[in-house]
Parts: sequence; structure tokens; C-alpha cells
Amino acid sequence: MDAPWLQACKRLAVGQTARFRCCGRTPAAVLYNKPDAWQLWCHRCKTSLSERKQYVSLVQPEVLPRVLPAPAKLLQISQTSAELQAQLYGFLMSKGIWPEMVGEAYYSPEHKRLVLKTGNGILLGRALHDYQSPKWVIYGNCDATGHGAYAPRFKS
Ligand SMILES: [Zn+2]
Repeated sequence: MDAPWLQACKRLAVGQTARFRCCGRTPAAVLYNKPDAWQLWCHRCKTSLSERKQYVSLVQPEVLPRVLPAPAKLLQISQTSAELQAQLYGFLMSKGIWPEMVGEAYYSPEHKRLVLKTGNGILLGRALHDYQSPKWVIYGNCDATGHGAYAPRFKS
């Protein structure tokens, strides 16, 4: 729930200002709806408040089923661009996984996921971006429900 000043500020059109009662008996404060922030400035008590606007993401969320057919194309991490390698290795390291600990690790250009092959041959796809859901998918014709037996060992 927003503070009263912020609620009032959000009702303004962008570029509009309005008087607001911050302290005392009269509305001595001014609300501003700026393109990038909502702001309050009180002439009496000199309160200054600002709330940055979160830009709406242009990336649509992507939701995949938990179990997918294996990607047609898998790249060895070493075959990907230097930038991508840095991202993939960086991701593994951030999870406390050293590249040597992962049996086989690939990248799916189609799904933009890191793909790990587990000891029993199951392929797991890990999301690398915030817009991707779920974090883990399972590739191949394993357990049809996608639950239980092949649950990933790694916590998100
Ligand atoms: Zn005030």
C-alpha cells in the first residue's frame, strides 16, 4: 500500500502538479508526477520525497512446460561466444558449482538455457534470465509427469 502522498501523486497525469497537505492546516506541499518519478516537496517543513518509477519490462514472460523434448541443438559451453561463456560460467560459479563438477554442460540457443546432463543421462535446462519460467525444465522422454524421480539436485 502506497503512502497517501504517493497515492495522490499517482492519480496525476504525467507533468501535472497538485497541492498536498503534508503538515499543518493548509496544503503546503506540492506533488509532481514526473516522467521518471513521483515527488513531493513541502514548502513548510521542507520534506522532500521521491519514488522512482519502475519501467515496465519490454520482455514478455516466457513460461515453458516442465518437461520438453530435447532441444534440437546443444552447444558445448566452449563453443559459445566469449560473452555467453562468461555468463554461463558466471552463473555456475554463482551457484557454487565449478565447471569441473558438472559432467556435461551445454547451452541451448533455442531456449536460451544452460543445459546440464546428470549422471543418469537426464538433461536439465536452467533459466538464465528473469523472464524465463520455470527455472528448471527437464528435457527428454523421462517420467511423464515431470515430477519426483528426476527432480533437479540443485536448488535454484
Ligand atoms: Zn510539510
